[in-house]
Amino acid sequence: EKIFLNGKVISGVDAAISVFDRGFLFGDGIYEVMVQLENGLFYGDAHWQRLQQNLEKIGIDYNVAEMEAYLNPLLMASNLLNKPCLIYIQVTRGVAPRKHSFPKDVRPTTMMYALPYSLPHINTKNVYAILRSDNRWLRCDIKSISLLGNVMANERAMEENAEEAVLVRDGFITEGSHTNIFFVKSGKVYTHPANQLILDGITRKIVLKLCEDLDIPVMEKAIGVDQIDGMDEAFLTGTTTQIASIAQLGDHTYHAPDTIGPVTKKLQEAFAELKKLEPEK
Ligand code: PLP
Repeated sequence: EKIFLNGKVISGVDAAISVFDRGFLFGDGIYEVMVQLENGLFYGDAHWQRLQQNLEKIGIDYNVAEMEAYLNPLLMASNLLNKPCLIYIQVTRGVAPRKHSFPKDVRPTTMMYALPYSLPHINTKNVYAILRSDNRWLRCDIKSISLLGNVMANERAMEENAEEAVLVRDGFITEGSHTNIFFVKSGKVYTHPANQLILDGITRKIVLKLCEDLDIPVMEKAIGVDQIDGMDEAFLTGTTTQIASIAQLGDHTYHAPDTIGPVTKKLQEAFAELKKLEPEK
């Protein structure tokens, strides 16, 4: 397996990162995940842009154009050129003696790899999601590699045979451990506003645009835990999740596992059509 590390494409087994890397010591870094379909990267520009914006948010001076230029050589070396795959990208502040403040003149550690991965045409799962307290920090808009809050919530979901943990902060639903969440009530779509309490998912943005195109009214407004019962449909979104219908959220059952709500279904179908379009160049 080949990986890109600090400006070179090398064998994964030869890749070495210092124990003094700030990603390892402090979780001081950010990441990105995107998929390539048969016809190219799916919203690649949006993912590269988010990576660049995240670097700016945490004060790492690095131009992602360098990694972008290495994507094709990496895919070629991985035998994944023009093939469906998942691309993982990570940038940390770099290697320096352990001290909280930012080191001067360090080069960020840049890493990416690609794995064979195919998205289903439509995600036909109808998931059970548990509710967990949102124990994360207050800058969830940053795609930080420090994912302890997400990891612990998701582990609980796995223990309870659920697909996702949906997080609750101050009585309001924020997002899933690795997904955004939407609700539907009387034909109207609701999702948490893109503020510092959630990650503004690329899939979330695509779904909001699809709603606009399909004349589905949207309100970016947090839903309270006490409102879950009153909603008609709920679904999760994410790069690998795409759009996943929620059959049950906490104690509330939306529908039988073989039923998908009409608005969720309409969005899933529209999303599947988007994947057939040639990606923007
Ligand atoms: N929210 C969180 C916390 C995530 O980790 C992710 C993706 O990993 C998402 C939402 C969905 O974002 P995207 O649609 O860009 O994959």
